[in-house]
Amino acid sequence: MLDDIAKTGTDFDRDLAAANDPAALDQVRVRYFGRKAGAIPALFERLKEVPKEEKRSVGDALNKLRDRIKSTLDEKTAQVASQKQVGQRPLDVTLPARLPPLGHLHPITIVRRELEEIFLEMGYSLDPGPEVETDWYNFEALNFTPDHPARDMQDTFFLDVDQLLLRTHTSNVQIRSMERWKPPLRVLSCGRVYRRDEITMRKSPVFHQAEGFLVDRGIHIGHLRATLEQFIKRLFGADLAMRMRPSYFPFTEPSAEVDMSCVFCRGKGCNTCSFTGWMEILGSGMIHPQVLRNVGIDPDEWSGFAFGFGLDRAAMIKFDIPNIRTLFENDLRVLQQF
Ligand SMILES: [Zn+2]
Repeated sequence: MLDDIAKTGTDFDRDLAAANDPAALDQVRVRYFGRKAGAIPALFERLKEVPKEEKRSVGDALNKLRDRIKSTLDEKTAQVASQKQVGQRPLDVTLPARLPPLGHLHPITIVRRELEEIFLEMGYSLDPGPEVETDWYNFEALNFTPDHPARDMQDTFFLDVDQLLLRTHTSNVQIRSMERWKPPLRVLSCGRVYRRDEITMRKSPVFHQAEGFLVDRGIHIGHLRATLEQFIKRLFGADLAMRMRPSYFPFTEPSAEVDMSCVFCRGKGCNTCSFTGWMEILGSGMIHPQVLRNVGIDPDEWSGFAFGFGLDRAAMIKFDIPNIRTLFENDLRVLQQF
């Protein structure tokens, strides 16, 4: 009987070594533990025939064998199951890791960072300024007369509290920076602005602006032109021409709209530029003396220029995105291209 127990043990070791998939392991389990013909129950059955004085030692040996077979069989079954999970191959810990997918920069972020880099090199400081603003910083100090169309309820989001509003442009940073620091000043401000507009191909009630301004002694429109020319060429291409057209803004005098050669036809004329060869790109001008006076800067000693630039429009031009909504939908298929 003890010999049979030992032989069952060796048989099991051989059978187990040969079984390498769940089905074969099941068969081994039936062969040793099956109710009808299992080797272990059969041995327990034969315990009855063992003489009384040997019963204890034989029983012990049999119990040990049953426990060993059960635990090694369970162990191998679990091992095979986990290998199956990794494609039925043993786990290879030397394989290179699968990296988590990396995010992409949003087109507006790309343009903003390029712009910031250009102006940081020119000695400007960055100041985003607040998005919730008072009438003074958004309008009054910037020389907007009380009946100016931009103050109309149609354009501005007014808040219920403390006569606050959502800024309609980043020009509020001009006033805040000039109040806080003494000239000379060079500041670039990029951020969100809000206007009560319908959503169309080119307009959104939330959009992004960059405002740059400089105050120093002896600043004239030539400085403005040189600054704009340098940044347009760096942002859009060195071969592009630039022109200034007279315009009107309450906080600059004189004021100018700035055009650059159409980036799509390089000035030859195409559908996008209505065959003019030019695209309107920003508004600018010399800071109005009254604006300087409003923040306690003497316009006889100091002068400056300012410009405002749409980051959404710049991203649309730079990356040939026809619809502004594309910038706000955050469709991963689009964003992954940048
Ligand atoms: Zn064109």
